[in-house]
Amino acid sequence: MSEDPRRAIPRTDDVLGQAPFVTAAARLGRSVVRTAVVAAQQRARDEEIAPDRVVEAALAALPTRTSSLTPVLNATGVVVHTNIGRAPLSPSAIEAVVDAAGYVDVEMDLATGARSRRGAGALAALLEAVPDASGALAVNNGAAALVLATTALAAGREVVVSRGEMVEIGDGFRLPDLIASTGARLREVGTTNRTHLRDYADAIGPETGCVLKVHPSNFRVDGFVTSVGLEELRGLTRPDGSSVPVVADIGSGLLAPDPLLPDEPDARTWLRAGATIITASGDKLLGGPQAGLVLGDAEVVDQLRRHPLQRAVRVDKLTLAALEATLRGPASPVTASLHASADDLRLRVDALGTAVGREVVPVEGRVGGGGAPGVPLPGWAVEIPIDAVERLRQPAGDLPVVLARVDRGRGLVDLRCIPADRDGDVEAALRAVLGHDDALHPLPSP
Ligand SMILES: *Cc1c(COP(=O)(O)O)cnc(C)c1O
Repeated sequence: MSEDPRRAIPRTDDVLGQAPFVTAAARLGRSVVRTAVVAAQQRARDEEIAPDRVVEAALAALPTRTSSLTPVLNATGVVVHTNIGRAPLSPSAIEAVVDAAGYVDVEMDLATGARSRRGAGALAALLEAVPDASGALAVNNGAAALVLATTALAAGREVVVSRGEMVEIGDGFRLPDLIASTGARLREVGTTNRTHLRDYADAIGPETGCVLKVHPSNFRVDGFVTSVGLEELRGLTRPDGSSVPVVADIGSGLLAPDPLLPDEPDARTWLRAGATIITASGDKLLGGPQAGLVLGDAEVVDQLRRHPLQRAVRVDKLTLAALEATLRGPASPVTASLHASADDLRLRVDALGTAVGREVVPVEGRVGGGGAPGVPLPGWAVEIPIDAVERLRQPAGDLPVVLARVDRGRGLVDLRCIPADRDGDVEAALRAVLGHDDALHPLPSP
């Protein structure tokens, strides 16, 4: 009787003891490596592979990364894309995150050894960037900033909002539902298209906690439209003469005006116009980490900081590090992509089109992230067959994942949001996919 070939399968501990597996275990953890070895042994038992291929198969099956999050090259031309993590961090912000990843003095004064204000550096950077604010606070995200503001200022009382601003921003952000969750009552005023100062004035009473103004970032109402400016809202008072705080959710996180985005609100302008505090996201047009920013009147910001809910929406040290580096460092990748010139893009896209033998077409990029819906960003893209888009998303081997845009039955590869030093990676991915395409659809023989 011949020997059972399964007895030739190497033992788990013997494989795990080999140098490449020891190295992999140090990086990925022993259990991940063990799982790959056990799976390869099973394949040998199932006679899918020969016993002497177990080591090779286990090595090939080892994940290359410890996180299941896969980096992608954004060739969609959409600058702030929530499904792929909104803003890419700048190299200096990435460096700051790495430095902060260990023990770090996030809440300690190294001179005295005493406890210090958490994230003081990031808050100081925010105040320097927006001198019109006397107070600043960072929380987990824009929604948390708004929940904290309405809770601290209006829980058990009323938040006055125009019916024209009852927005849904996307991924679960519905203003009326969010406010209801805070225990504040929503007091709607005006109509969808027109709200006047007297609508607000009539609604304000002893029960008013705050007035809320929301930038309806992802849509526009044109035509017979009236809304009330912050200049007018700022003057509203309760019957006892006390002033009503005006909370303004600007969303996008622009700190100062950007001529490219004339309709996009910014912190400086809205605070000057009369907002008591503004709330915004950190990972939209600011180009930083996911965060919620609160800027404005120091007393009101402190009221938010002292509220018990603040502890539940506290930002972590990595966010604080990235936020400060984004504010103090060179222009973020988001800013660079937004302001990329069509001529520069054309040069890069032409080179790519020539290299892969595809046509170059004019396209319009998008700000995205629910921002500036009416602002097209003129640029250029390489046109590819629509089925190539899917293969770019699931490439073979260790080629990078490239996300292209689908538009009217074709695929578009837009280099606006690709760092220029990655153009070669996009080209390699395209070559692989387009070559594959030819193989799938060979020319009919004559
Ligand atoms: C994006 C946005 C939000 C939500 O901010 P997150 O950081 O995603 O929580 C709230 N309000 C407006 C106006 C927005 O544009």
